[in-house]
Amino acid sequence: MAQTATAPRATPAIRHTKLLIDNQWVDPIEGGDFETYNPATGEVIARVGAGTAADVDKAVKAARRALESGPWATMDAAERGRLMYELSDLVERNGAELAALESLNSGKTITDSLGDIEGVVNTLRYYAGWADKIEGKTLPVRGSFLSYTLRQPVGVVGQIIPWNFPLLMLAWKWGPALACGNTVVMKPAEQTPLTALRIADLAIEAGFPAGVLNIINGFGETAGAALVAHPDVDKIAFTGHVDTAKIIQRQAAETLKRTTFELGGKSPNVIFADANIEDAVAGAFHAIYFHGGQCCTAGSRLFVEQKIHKEFVQRLAEKAKTRTIGDPLNPATEQGPQVSQEQLDKILHYVDLGQKQGAKLLSGGGRVGDRGFFVEPTIFDNVKDDMAIARDEIFGPVVSVLPFTGVDEVVERSNNTSYGLAAAIWTKDIDKAHLFAKRVKAGTVWVNCYHVVDTTTPFGGFKMSGQGRENGEAALEHYSEMKTVTVKLG
Ligand code: NAD
Repeated sequence: MAQTATAPRATPAIRHTKLLIDNQWVDPIEGGDFETYNPATGEVIARVGAGTAADVDKAVKAARRALESGPWATMDAAERGRLMYELSDLVERNGAELAALESLNSGKTITDSLGDIEGVVNTLRYYAGWADKIEGKTLPVRGSFLSYTLRQPVGVVGQIIPWNFPLLMLAWKWGPALACGNTVVMKPAEQTPLTALRIADLAIEAGFPAGVLNIINGFGETAGAALVAHPDVDKIAFTGHVDTAKIIQRQAAETLKRTTFELGGKSPNVIFADANIEDAVAGAFHAIYFHGGQCCTAGSRLFVEQKIHKEFVQRLAEKAKTRTIGDPLNPATEQGPQVSQEQLDKILHYVDLGQKQGAKLLSGGGRVGDRGFFVEPTIFDNVKDDMAIARDEIFGPVVSVLPFTGVDEVVERSNNTSYGLAAAIWTKDIDKAHLFAKRVKAGTVWVNCYHVVDTTTPFGGFKMSGQGRENGEAALEHYSEMKTVTVKLG
């Protein structure tokens, strides 16, 4: 394993640390703030305003005003789309700066951050195109009536996002919400508050009217919970941990809010002996180690057909040794730090647990260096399905290799989890591929590829991996209400 140097390089500017309410940068009403870090060094890079219930209330009132009166309320759908195109152009033009800020605050490699910027631009443009194509229907009702449906915004939407894809998760949520004409109060993750503020700045520049997009940074138990509890918020869209989703669902029930959830996973990645082995090794590697395993779709359960098991894990371990780890802002870096000390500790705890429960630590397992939150790409071999490392979402660069012998067996074992976000199969046999795709309980299935997510393809989970879908036309349903209008004729 190589390490890139953490040579000093141009640090991106941190322009905003306050809250954005009604297109104004404001200090939190109660005056608190919190530290945000550079995970590559563990150093504090800024203090950011910590919103509380009072700020959430102020932002919800601004969002309600913008929804009910003023330019957004009466704006043509095509004009909404134009503003979204304008924002996408500004993101593209400021992409290098946004990506550097994302890497600084989250530890994501600059290559991955630039990829995320492309995703943000694509998402905003895709939903900008939808803005004036969200249509109702005329209905062939009995009797002398004309009935038709209108698709109208759900209202004020609370959006709560995690730290692993701060900008991309924002775009996945803003895109369909804005296309449908909603107004938004967003709560970014407390670990990664900076890029949401910068993109909100660009939204003001693009011309979004006051109150349409509001950002309340702060903690989940205060700012996030206040957003969920607020009686004037119509919907909560949440991406994050399944345990948090349970709390939110209980709380949202008090005011019967609409909810959508994108949660975790323990995704099976299944390698058959008839696969192109070189591609499958590279694919299995990418499946788990992309963004240091901090990916809800990470291929963390690697099922390898017994016949090729030994050769396959050997090749995977050799590849792990060549991984370049280090400064995320260095373009040569392949893996940056984990996002926080908490995540580092959690991952090392699971490495310890894996060994104690009898799995074979084939490669990695340790921290890299003593500064920042870096972890070696880790492989556990001969893992049993009931071990903690095969059941729990570790959210780090730790893969569990599980040998198998047949199709039925591997489908059953793949589905033996409370999650159902993604799954993949590597084979040249189309029967096997399609049978697996049909029988595996997951919202996304990849055949001979992994982590291929497009703004046009619905994304979300079966079982405890979520409710509802993001991306594609499917997301629009969760951001619009259907109204039936019936007119008596004659
Ligand atoms: P988390 O649930 O701890 O935090 C996510 C967000 O929820 C943060 O903004 C946090 O402040 C907020 N929050 C925490 N407690 C809250 C409460 N009581 N009320 C309201 N808001 C609250 O999750 P995390 O550890 O930051 O993120 C990692 C998780 O996100 C993983 O489980 C991962 O799989 C999941 N994830 C899922 C997807 C997907 O699309 N399915 C994408 C990315 C991440």
